[in-house]
Amino acid sequence: MERIMAPETKSTVPSPAAPAAGSPSPSSNATAAESANKPGVDFIRARIMEDNATGRYGGKVHTRFPPEPNGYLHLGHAKSICLNFGVANEFNGLCNLRFDDTNPTKEEQEYVDSIREDVHWLGGDWQDREFYASNYFEQLYEYAEQLIKMGKAYVDDLSAEEIREHRGTLTEPGRESPWRNRSVEENLDLFRRMRAGEFADGERVLRAKINMASPNLVMRDPTIYRIRHAEHHRTGNDWCIYPMYDFTHCLSDSIEGITHSLCTLEFVNNRELYDWVLETLGVYHPQQIEFARLNLTYTVLSKRKLIQLVKEGHVQGWDDPRMPTLSGLRRRGVPPEALREFCSRIGLARADSTVEYSMLEFCVREHLNAHAARVMAVLDPIKVVIENYPEGQVEEFDMPFHPEDESYGSRKVPFSREIYVERDDFRLDPPKKYHRLAPGVEVRLRYAYFITCREAVLDENGNVTELRCVYDPESRGGQSPDGRKVKGTIHWVSGAHALPAEVRLYEQLFSVENPNAAPEGQSFLDYINPQSLTVVEGLLEPALAELAVGRKVQFERLGYFCKDKDSTAERPVFNRTATLRDTWAKLEKKG
Ligand code: ATP
Ligand code: MG
Repeated sequence: MERIMAPETKSTVPSPAAPAAGSPSPSSNATAAESANKPGVDFIRARIMEDNATGRYGGKVHTRFPPEPNGYLHLGHAKSICLNFGVANEFNGLCNLRFDDTNPTKEEQEYVDSIREDVHWLGGDWQDREFYASNYFEQLYEYAEQLIKMGKAYVDDLSAEEIREHRGTLTEPGRESPWRNRSVEENLDLFRRMRAGEFADGERVLRAKINMASPNLVMRDPTIYRIRHAEHHRTGNDWCIYPMYDFTHCLSDSIEGITHSLCTLEFVNNRELYDWVLETLGVYHPQQIEFARLNLTYTVLSKRKLIQLVKEGHVQGWDDPRMPTLSGLRRRGVPPEALREFCSRIGLARADSTVEYSMLEFCVREHLNAHAARVMAVLDPIKVVIENYPEGQVEEFDMPFHPEDESYGSRKVPFSREIYVERDDFRLDPPKKYHRLAPGVEVRLRYAYFITCREAVLDENGNVTELRCVYDPESRGGQSPDGRKVKGTIHWVSGAHALPAEVRLYEQLFSVENPNAAPEGQSFLDYINPQSLTVVEGLLEPALAELAVGRKVQFERLGYFCKDKDSTAERPVFNRTATLRDTWAKLEKKG
């Protein structure tokens, strides 16, 4: 299986397989041959351009994103959302949001609400075209009767188990049901009585009458209606028979005038049935096109597994920032722009591939580097006393929020005799090339002063509890007064002004690349990373008290962080969205 990796450094720009979001639309007059050969155009866009060139759908492009409301959307859905809404945008077309809600027992309003929020957040705009397969139940029922009248569907009394036994295998044809040749009248009567609620769940089904010897198992008289005495989240108790996916999906596409029905590869074999239903009924016929689903390292992208993580309490909810759900990513601080860029970079393929998680982080860093304000926070504080700084004195330094973008403005940061710096920015016994604080070493406090460490105070266990330093008043603003070089610059927070905060540091939820590949007797749950969440008590610069929930900032030298909804007025909570690339850590490892 192909591997899609993140670019190593920012200077190597990978060639995206698909045009980036917001890139100019491909010309609609390009000929089929031209477009198919156009570099950077994926096979779906090439196909659409070809259809536009031949006038197949009158130049119209109409897609849909069809989630089943039985869980929260995840990164895989993001790929589908970006594709469906992206293609519609690029070709001046439309994209519908359609809830594929044909299973009354698994669907809930909560999921509908979350899906709407997530699609919007990602930038999908369905305007007034929010549809539900359940809106078409009556119409679908009529189509089913029509098939019966055409002799193309029959009521089968076999049990689900028996139907499976009759289906045959890839190498053996199936066997026909003894009920396959019921008369149209009998079928109609039974189907109507199924609708009327005369039978119990599983007692009878309606099957399409196609071909029990078809090499394609999907075509061996697939079930198209089943009995389910269950309340539906939208239609209540109006129905006790529900149409199956393969029957519902193609007809919903047809009813909505979809032109290109984009779905994932596992539906390749279902395309024959998609086409059969529409052709047999003689209705408007969209084109189904399959693409490879997104697989990502260190995570699971299956609703069933995500539900299990939530319901069994392995995470703190659907929007736990470790979850690959869109709500989790949003809460973690991943900007929608970064997700769209990610979807554009991974491109579209007809064969399965696995994308490295680092690719997503690369896109997140790239966006936040350009768009997040810089502030200072110390997450593992060690106290520094600046002995020659007057007691009780406070001064303020004006610091820009963004070094490369003046429009971000600046804020005042207080400075005083006692400050905190990062424990990791001090070494009692510094290795070579370590340019941060150490006994006798001078460093720059970001935008403030040069300080030199005079002494480290240790407790009885040898742990450093405090650093005694002196500062050079001539270095105000962090400028060298006499041209002497100070290599290291570290961040700091004034002790008297520091804002304590809970900071949540996240790592991968799973400790192996492919948690789906658990051997017999084990499950993906066995690979949950016990270190996926570390909570620390940090000290922030006071300006952060004002920050709104959901806002993203860079804590200088530490990473990107997002203010969490658990914050209170007294105690802000921040989630680490991503670390910065730490070149020192790499050097030290190599050391
Ligand atoms: P799951 O198998 O996890 O339950 P699903 O595919 O059944 O997911 P749906 O709600 O039916 O979930 O998906 C809505 C749309 O999103 C479908 O068109 C589906 O093909 C697409 N989709 C789901 N997962 C992925 C993925 N990993 N990569 C790309 N598209 C996906
Ligand atoms: Mg599905």
